[in-house]
Amino acid sequence: MTQKTIVQSGAAPQRALRATSSSELAFPGIPELIAQPLCPACGGRDLESFYQINDVPAHSCLMLPTRDEALTFPRGDIDLAFCRDCGFISNTRFDVSLNKYSPAYEETQAFSPRFMRFVNDLCDDQIAKYGIGPGISVLEIGCGKGEFLVSLCERSGCDGIGLDPGYRPERTQSPATPRIRFIRDFYGPKYAHMQADYVCCRHTLEHIEPVREFVTLVRDTIGDRRHVNVFFELPDMERVLEHGVFWDIYYEHCAYFTRGSLARLFRETRFDVLELYKAYGGQYLMLEARPAPAPTLARLPQEHDLEHTARLVDAFQGRVAAQLQGLQDIVSTARKEGKTIAVWGSGSKCVSLISSLRMEEELTAIVDINPHKHGKFLAGSGREILSPDTLRAVRPDIVLLMNAIYTEEVRNELTARNLRPRLVPL
Ligand SMILES: [Zn+2]
Repeated sequence: MTQKTIVQSGAAPQRALRATSSSELAFPGIPELIAQPLCPACGGRDLESFYQINDVPAHSCLMLPTRDEALTFPRGDIDLAFCRDCGFISNTRFDVSLNKYSPAYEETQAFSPRFMRFVNDLCDDQIAKYGIGPGISVLEIGCGKGEFLVSLCERSGCDGIGLDPGYRPERTQSPATPRIRFIRDFYGPKYAHMQADYVCCRHTLEHIEPVREFVTLVRDTIGDRRHVNVFFELPDMERVLEHGVFWDIYYEHCAYFTRGSLARLFRETRFDVLELYKAYGGQYLMLEARPAPAPTLARLPQEHDLEHTARLVDAFQGRVAAQLQGLQDIVSTARKEGKTIAVWGSGSKCVSLISSLRMEEELTAIVDINPHKHGKFLAGSGREILSPDTLRAVRPDIVLLMNAIYTEEVRNELTARNLRPRLVPL
């Protein structure tokens, strides 16, 4: 995933944001209310805890230079709570102080042709829909290594501003560079003066604990400029719940949305939701909105998912158990038959899978196509990330592919290396 940036403007404002969101309300003399968390999206109290996993690495995309640092990396607990009022799901045990976003954060998927095709198609779609072109300014909050913003500026001729503490200037080589300003920082109130004509924020909101404050800040920054279009992209939690894909739940992500809960948050914070859909094989949730003078009412049929989400939440433990059993069967059968297993993809899904299955010893190799990850170590397990070329010597019998959307691409990569393992796409 390209997940990246928490948004803050220095430590003090971040604490201030947190204190007004999911923290406790203290009522003197009513001790039972003191520790009751509030929904960070709607402020409601009807939260139901439904999934826990303890002692997981606090980061999964931070590349660690030594095995020791990877093994001793800070850990935290996950306790997912479902808000019965708005459908938002959050990790109530999330501790922002464990987060450490920096240029060592390696989230990019830009080394995948499949992913870059998606990014370029998305840019063309947004350019056509919202008239992005020369003279138009675009702000990307949490731009990561800048792939989307650069593509948008190259393809449309617009000007860009990108914010992300994990941005690496040496990675950008584009004729559009003179029109783009990158700032290595978190977004926050101090950047409220940046008045762009189009605001996008991809794979960032899920890292933010005070989601309502954040979306409100984006809305306040737009002010009366009603022509500004807003585009958000993030993982879709409905798919995770439906299929029990527990490896898509990890510490870095403290906020989980379905189409309905995302739209409700935007409508409450004075946006009108124009489009709400899924993309990238149903993995991503896309929202396009425009500022409104007041909160707006739901008008898209896909927003009405609260009861459906509640049913999925109730069934989630069972679905996770089935997924775990299936994976454990693959691993134990391989062990009995003396077969070797490699993992393709060393991102957050991989870290989460290893944490949940406690199966790192069963894995012969973990490979990734991003060369910036090679020779670095995975937080938690301390496993070294290798180049796919190492598989020529390892010759795995089974390759667990961490994202099924890359099945064709990875099969081609394996075939090119004269390897024909059983490919198990997750
Ligand atoms: Zn809520």
